[in-house]
Amino acid sequence: MNMLIALALAVTVLFPACLRAGPAKPAMEVVVLGSGGPRAFGRAGSSYILVLDGRPRILVDAGPGAFLRLGELHLDLESVDTVLLTHLHIDHSADLAAFFNARALTSDGPIAYRIFGPDGAGLFPKTSRFVDLLVGNDGAFAYQKTFGADESFVVRDLAISLDSARTKIVDENGLAVEEIATHHGDCPSVAYRISYRSASVVFSGDMDASALPNLVQLAKNADLLIFNCAVLDPPRSPSQLYGLHTPPTKIGEAARDSGVKSLLVSHLAPDVEGQEDAVRKSIRAAFRRPVGFASDKLHVLVGK
Ligand SMILES: [Zn+2]
Repeated sequence: MNMLIALALAVTVLFPACLRAGPAKPAMEVVVLGSGGPRAFGRAGSSYILVLDGRPRILVDAGPGAFLRLGELHLDLESVDTVLLTHLHIDHSADLAAFFNARALTSDGPIAYRIFGPDGAGLFPKTSRFVDLLVGNDGAFAYQKTFGADESFVVRDLAISLDSARTKIVDENGLAVEEIATHHGDCPSVAYRISYRSASVVFSGDMDASALPNLVQLAKNADLLIFNCAVLDPPRSPSQLYGLHTPPTKIGEAARDSGVKSLLVSHLAPDVEGQEDAVRKSIRAAFRRPVGFASDKLHVLVGK
């Protein structure tokens, strides 16, 4: 039994309602590259690849360790042209330059990237500036553009005020990407919804509970909601973390209120990982549909 089949079976147990068996490729598949956060305890930092019609296409976040997982999974990066960054904390963005490097070496022709991420505030640069600081002409890795393929970057900075409207940022050939501002302490952040044919997945990114109305609106009736869970219900985690992250009970309520068909809890912290039963119970108080816990290299088939 190869690794993909083994993982698919594992996911079938977790997500019986959102999977389909058989040899046909699903329209959408999410591959978890990194299911962890900033603590180094064996999980890569937050990162995912969306596979559309069997081809990896969209990178969502690029936390440290994503580069390693890409190689372990032998993913073909040739068609990856879209990068969605939920926010610019290190555990979500530190492998972005390494991804560019790896992608360039898999390409025979020019690469035109479109990159989306939050606008800047305080200590955090806007995403266009962040990309420029990495691989721009005066960037730390300016040599990247001479390293392999001919690369171009179109970067769009997204509104970060909570009262900003939900916005469609990609709409082409059956693929739609929408985003809305969230709130993650002092770090500008956004959530994304990706729809392809009849399948849809929503990435919460890191967010505190103040942004739940926006997230619920974005996730309405989605097939899969991937919600980052870095704290236990109060008072079991340090109080200051509740200004950064949403606790499990409220994650369950958001999943229920949005009507999503399944929930994958990710961005797991060491203290959450040891408390999966408690986290599941908190979520189940409001949300009765399938709930799973992410692990690195997990494959999740999305849609009917
Ligand atoms: Zn994080």
